[in-house]
Amino acid sequence: MRRLPSSVCSPSSHRLNPVTSMATGSNSLIWFRKGLRVHDNPALEHASKASSGSMYPVFVIDPRYMEPDPSAFSPGSSRAGVNRIRFLLESLKDLDSGLKKLGSRLLVLRGEPGEVLVRCLREWKVKRLCFEYDTDPYYQALDFKVKEYASSVGVEVFSPVSHTLFNPTDIIQKNGGKAPLSYQSFLKIAGEPSCAESELLMSYSSLPPIGDVGSIGVSEVPKLEELGYREDEQDEWTPFRGGESEALERLTKSISDKAWVANFEKPKGDPSALLKPATTVLSPYLKKFGCLSSRYFYQCLQRVYKDMKKHTSPPVSLLGQLLWREFFYTTAFGTRNFDKMKGNPICKQIPWKEDHDMLAAWRDGKTGYPWIDAIMVQLLKWGWMHHLARHSVACFLTRGDLFIHWEQGRDVFERLLIDSDWAINNGNWMWLSCSSFFYQALPPPFYNRIYSPVSFGKKYDPEGKYIRHFLPVLKDMPKQYIYEPWTAPLSVQTKAKCIVGKDYPKPMVMHDAASKECKRKMGEAYALNKKMNGNIGDDDLKDLRRKLETDEESNIRNQRPKLN
Ligand code: FAD
Repeated sequence: MRRLPSSVCSPSSHRLNPVTSMATGSNSLIWFRKGLRVHDNPALEHASKASSGSMYPVFVIDPRYMEPDPSAFSPGSSRAGVNRIRFLLESLKDLDSGLKKLGSRLLVLRGEPGEVLVRCLREWKVKRLCFEYDTDPYYQALDFKVKEYASSVGVEVFSPVSHTLFNPTDIIQKNGGKAPLSYQSFLKIAGEPSCAESELLMSYSSLPPIGDVGSIGVSEVPKLEELGYREDEQDEWTPFRGGESEALERLTKSISDKAWVANFEKPKGDPSALLKPATTVLSPYLKKFGCLSSRYFYQCLQRVYKDMKKHTSPPVSLLGQLLWREFFYTTAFGTRNFDKMKGNPICKQIPWKEDHDMLAAWRDGKTGYPWIDAIMVQLLKWGWMHHLARHSVACFLTRGDLFIHWEQGRDVFERLLIDSDWAINNGNWMWLSCSSFFYQALPPPFYNRIYSPVSFGKKYDPEGKYIRHFLPVLKDMPKQYIYEPWTAPLSVQTKAKCIVGKDYPKPMVMHDAASKECKRKMGEAYALNKKMNGNIGDDDLKDLRRKLETDEESNIRNQRPKLN
């Protein structure tokens, strides 16, 4: 076994020569869910200590998650777009080849994960069950059942916290039983993570062998086609490949440019940068599948900072981004109904609108605002967009223009993002919709600061290259009209082979009027939240919705030109 002291965290340090693992115990099972990696994986390390017996590395494919759903709005299952399914299969394949190099392999099983696990524990006479601790509600419930069974039959369970730098439970405890609700207070309470100085186990010389699998049906990692998908399902796929090898290579590339790391300042990145994204694109590796250890990333960043005289700091630095992740994990874990507006003590109660057609237009990239539509098409095709691009479309859907519920936007992101993450997605949607986390001391209220669907993107990409890439229908539109094609004279639209209203939609709302309406509604909703001190019932919300709609109708009536 090879441990990596923090002091040797150079870009190539994960290729250090391994030494042999220790031997004790009997059969163990390492259950991979996230944490799809060999490096810095304490659950794998613990399971491997049973090298006098066998070690069964298992991944369970849950058909409910993976089966194609022909009724879904885009290729994929009901829960995940096809990009993320492919990314997961690539990550599993890479993990399998990593394990094979060490004399083991990944055993892929299918079914309801809890039931499958129990069968494996029984059939393989497992004495030690190891899996990474997970704070997502789905895993909390599942793990509770599995642990209960394991303890009833005397199986030792080892479930370390290694997806995050900190243990959210510790932070909440330190904060008197409550999750810190601001980033600054989180930083103060959290301090340095314990992994800052610890040595990470990056590799092994070998792993214990797989035992007899008996009557349990195991398979190799399936191909996308074997799950019922087709490679021609999409005309453009995400350029990001899944897997630990890819994650480490991406990390190496990012941190080898020390000046870039030292000067990283989040809000300054270009959300329209296509060929070379302005950020690391490590989120799919860190979040969803754990192909990259956040602790290793942390140590590498600290190493760069030590070498550079000056560097940026949290919240805007690269380390600051990693700490945002920790912040959201902690608040999500410590907050009841974190993924809902109702019954969520930190979420403002806002009478959002229900409008399926508007939601579908936004989701399908058909709002008539090229900046918004291009971002939504990038989401459909790549499953990843820059943070500020996410800001733009989330603001547009909710408090900026359409006044649609953040939970509905959250669902679309949750299904399509390759880095989709329960805590972070919900947290950011609440943030962007001004439903939570904004506690501004000074006026004007934050909800008055709205991203323009026209000028915000133009600032970064005046030529509209990003729009032309994702919306080829606008590729010949002159640059002065690319963000507002409805303002182009018909002769220009004809020449560009894009007639607005026929080849590309007219804007679904006029931004100036729509955003004014949204601000008014947010103002009234905030006032009600303040008056009721957060104790708003369904009827209060219904009354406010009715009032806002009536006011909106009369505003529209008053704005119509009067006929004499
Ligand atoms: P970098 O800027 O290179 O940052 C490095 C790492 O820091 C990221 O990989 C990520 O792990 C973390 N990080 C960066 N920004 C944030 C943030 N705001 N919150 C938490 N962690 C952060 N991120 C997800 O991983 N999953 C989601 O489901 C998700 N949903 C989002 C929804 C909305 C509405 C918004 C506005 C943002 C969302 N984000 C989500 C946060 C953020 O946009 C992405 O983490 C980031 O763009 C990923 O790109 P990167 O890896 O290049 O980030």
